Amino acid sequence: MKCIAVVMAMNSEASPIVTLLNAEPLAEIPFMPFQLYEAHRNDCRIIISVNGRDKRHGVDSIGTQTAALNAYVVAERFSPELMITAGTAGGWIQRGAEIGDVYVSDQKFVHHDRRIAIPGFTEYGIGSYPAVPTGALARTLNLKQGIVTTSNSLDENDDDRRLIAETGGVVKEMEAAAVAYVCDLMGIPVMALKAITDLVDHHAATADQFAANLRMASEQLAEKLVQVVDFCAARSIA
Ligand code: SAH
Repeated sequence: MKCIAVVMAMNSEASPIVTLLNAEPLAEIPFMPFQLYEAHRNDCRIIISVNGRDKRHGVDSIGTQTAALNAYVVAERFSPELMITAGTAGGWIQRGAEIGDVYVSDQKFVHHDRRIAIPGFTEYGIGSYPAVPTGALARTLNLKQGIVTTSNSLDENDDDRRLIAETGGVVKEMEAAAVAYVCDLMGIPVMALKAITDLVDHHAATADQFAANLRMASEQLAEKLVQVVDFCAARSIA
């Protein structure tokens, strides 16, 4: 591959991988909040684009809006052969997750907060955008695999729980399905790499677990992301 794009939501998720790859900052894009970096692994260009700070609220621009915009701008500018949506996520004790595990996407990307009870729109809400097959990569790099499910909320309510059970989601986060939607439109193969910061079915509050484990999970993510990038850079999608 000549170019792999990695899109990420939070600064603290991105900083270990930026350091590990020795990535150099690129110029800002007018009007856009993104922070872009470039690195090289052998002959492959690695673009890391972080959602950046929200202009109005001053926090990291997490969630689907900026993720879709980021994926689109990066796809247009750099024509990557592969897009990776990388970051942290929630997992479930019941489904075998442990804090710090790194999951790679499986099968499809779904939404669990777009409930539209009108014929045809129900499936539109769920999305089900295809994930690039990663069986060989997961086996070689010893990564857990799972369906990634996205919403714009950090918590999980009863409706979310029901939808997640129906679609088989095992990795819960706030960006991947939006990135996968853009990649589906533009014909770019996409995978997610997500490190578990919190266990949804643990008694401790998600936000507290997230804060306690963010640094460790982001370091685990960086370590695996380098391996994933090297594995992919040396191969074609086929
Ligand atoms: N209070 C935090 C907010 C982080 S939101 C802060 O300001 O530092 C969570 C981010 O991590 C999102 O980008 C999302 O993709 C991911 N994430 C981690 N655990 C999650 C979970 N259980 N549910 C949804 N998103 C989660």
